[in-house]
Amino acid sequence: MNDNSGARRARDTATAIGVLRQRFGDRLQTGEAIRQQHGHTLTWIPNQPPDAVIFVELASEVVDIVRVARQYRVPVIPFGAGTSLEGHVNAAEGGLSLDFSRMNKIVAVNERDLDCVVEPGVSRKQLNDYLRDRGLFFPVDPGAEWATIGGMAATRASGTNAVRYGTMRENVLNVTAVLADGSTIKTGQRARKSSAGYDLTRLLVGSEGTLGVFTELTVRVYGIPERIMAAVCPFKTIEGACNAVIQSIQLGLGIARMELLDAVQIKAVNGHSKLGLDEAPTLFLEFHGTDISARDQVAVFKDLAEAEGAIRFDWAEREEDRNRLWKARHDAYWAVKSTWPGRVVFATDVCVPISRLAECVLETEQDIKELGIVAPIVGHVGDGNFHTSPAFDPANGVEVAAVKTFVKRLTERAIRMEGTCTGEHGIGQGKAGYMAAEHGPAIAVMRSIKAALDPDDILNPGKIFPL
Ligand SMILES: Cc1cc2nc3c(=O)[nH]c(=O)nc-3n(C[C@H](O)[C@H](O)[C@H](O)COP(=O)(O)OP(=O)(O)OC[C@H]3O[C@@H](n4cnc5c(N)ncnc54)[C@H](O)[C@@H]3O)c2cc1C
Repeated sequence: MNDNSGARRARDTATAIGVLRQRFGDRLQTGEAIRQQHGHTLTWIPNQPPDAVIFVELASEVVDIVRVARQYRVPVIPFGAGTSLEGHVNAAEGGLSLDFSRMNKIVAVNERDLDCVVEPGVSRKQLNDYLRDRGLFFPVDPGAEWATIGGMAATRASGTNAVRYGTMRENVLNVTAVLADGSTIKTGQRARKSSAGYDLTRLLVGSEGTLGVFTELTVRVYGIPERIMAAVCPFKTIEGACNAVIQSIQLGLGIARMELLDAVQIKAVNGHSKLGLDEAPTLFLEFHGTDISARDQVAVFKDLAEAEGAIRFDWAEREEDRNRLWKARHDAYWAVKSTWPGRVVFATDVCVPISRLAECVLETEQDIKELGIVAPIVGHVGDGNFHTSPAFDPANGVEVAAVKTFVKRLTERAIRMEGTCTGEHGIGQGKAGYMAAEHGPAIAVMRSIKAALDPDDILNPGKIFPL
């Protein structure tokens, strides 16, 4: 950008903010702290605050903002709860952050069809608190319980339950979205399946705010199972734990949650959540079904886990014990932060075909040792998906270089094993550099879609595509 275009952009942004301020009053804010809060914080990527934050309340307001933004070519960055991990909400080129926290109505629950309609700012905790009394739940559970359904759909999020219930890809039935030209589309009906034309729902889910801004979403919900049994199962080796997972997937056991924590992560969880677990590679498991089917799954899993070196099973059948266990699992990131205070911690994820899981985890563990870094492993291994959370001192050049090498090798390893550079966190800014290695010429097709839908590149620019 030369000085002239920079100055023009600053002028256009100021004009757009002036126009929108008339309409939104103090719902449009430009204070330093609020702008910083809407740039990114949960990552190693520097914070890039927007020029203004607007707290939207109605879909029609989103339409009006996008129209003004288009007129003045000002970026629009949708913001749910800001829990994404790859710099997704950074305002790479400045612009307007659209905060959805006030668009948080649960519009309808269709109990007989097992779906519900929500505004994008509804958090997954809010939705589940609402559904519980009806005997229903929404299964997709990224660790951050305040993550919003809009943000989760935009990152194609998943979590511990995905192995049984799928990710946002499977659980969003349709979205209503405002496109870059200010028009509004609804991508489908409530029918469970459809072969009517291109699947725009699947196109927009995972588009990270770059193709459209969601103003309403219909998602699937499920009956709370009759029987839920949770267990903690430490293993002699991490390979044994991975092999038990691979076999139970290949057998089609249908376990609802299968989470691996390596010994380093368990140590951090023990310190943070006071669980007193053995410091060994451990699976956290959950079995859903009727009383008989859940117990059957447990029996089969126990046999194959023992053959792979399981040390023992500790059961958590009471709801409060299960909740404590899963809270500790979801707090894994904060456990790393509190175990290595003052260090930058960032979570990075990859996903491989399940048959390559043990190999990928073992190579990664070896790499961590060779590079001499701290990077606990934790993951939704039932999907072949795992995370590491490197903790490092940003002022120490040697540590920074080692962590960069580690992430590069981890990502390239996953792609080499026919996996992906991210199973659930998304691309944002942090993984854009790996898109070419993973997608090759398919990136050109993605760029054409972006150019067709957003020719002026106003929707969350600087994300997904390598610069
Ligand atoms: C402790 C911790 C654990 C985590 N564990 C997991 C995990 O297990 N699995 C997982 O998948 N993720 C996990 N995450 C990442 C994060 O929670 C998810 O990426 C989540 O989907 C982001 O939701 P959000 O509401 O915070 O979205 P934001 O961070 O606000 O936004 C994310 C993206 O969505 C876009 N967006 C937001 N709202 C809209 C909208 N209305 N329309 C269009 N685009 C929109 C934004 O522009 C941005 O590109 C974790 C994060 C933390 C902090």
